[in-house]
Amino acid sequence: MQSVGMTQLEKTIRGYTYLCVFLMVMIFVLSVNTRFSAAATSDAPTDKRRVIVLDPGHGGNDIGVRGTDGSFEKAITLNLARIIAKALKPEYQVVFTRNGDYQVDLTRRTSIANHKKADLFISIHIGGSRQYQADQWTVYYFINPNQQETEFGKGPGDPKDAEGSIIFWDTVQARHQKESRIFAETMKNKLANTTGTAGIDVSHAALRVLEGADMPAIMIETGYLTNPQTEKRLNDPRFLLKVAENIRNGIKTYFHFKK
Ligand SMILES: [Zn+2]
Repeated sequence: MQSVGMTQLEKTIRGYTYLCVFLMVMIFVLSVNTRFSAAATSDAPTDKRRVIVLDPGHGGNDIGVRGTDGSFEKAITLNLARIIAKALKPEYQVVFTRNGDYQVDLTRRTSIANHKKADLFISIHIGGSRQYQADQWTVYYFINPNQQETEFGKGPGDPKDAEGSIIFWDTVQARHQKESRIFAETMKNKLANTTGTAGIDVSHAALRVLEGADMPAIMIETGYLTNPQTEKRLNDPRFLLKVAENIRNGIKTYFHFKK
């Protein structure tokens, strides 16, 4: 009797031991699981870095300006955008409107930026002239067409198109005009030491590539590709790196003073 009783007690204790071990394993598995899933969910929205959209001008059949030595604007703008992206990536999220040799509509370029809720939109172009000596860097920001007419003395009046219906001048970018102008000025100051004899200006125009951007937006024209010296420099990776670093500094300075 006694020995049988002992065996039952032993069996009960063993049973409890198994149950305890089982429960402990279960608790361990569950805690590891929740820790992993917590890490996974908290990872997704934590990239709080600002979003910069780079828009390399032209692409595909649209080659842009052609240099005297045969370079295409579309190729240099993409090349430069990729170098800028490398300089920006440690600090910012970078989005391209195109990252290859293909055509992208002007409206699609800004809608990509709006969709990504970008903080800044930077379009990259190179100018051209029939006079090969001509050279000039320009940082553009958008201005309403009727505002431009006023500035050139045509007076405001009711903007009407040929059919007499009122044109809706108020574009999305108009709301960001002041910030875009400040950003353009900041960028001009940072780029001033890379332009050489060409010089750099800030200008405004009713640029279609900027009008749909719902954030501060500029277009940088990095000299004239038709100028042989400029064409040579724009094909030099060390020069492009210098330009890219200045553009990164322009972005940094703009955000610094915005705070
Ligand atoms: Zn262009």
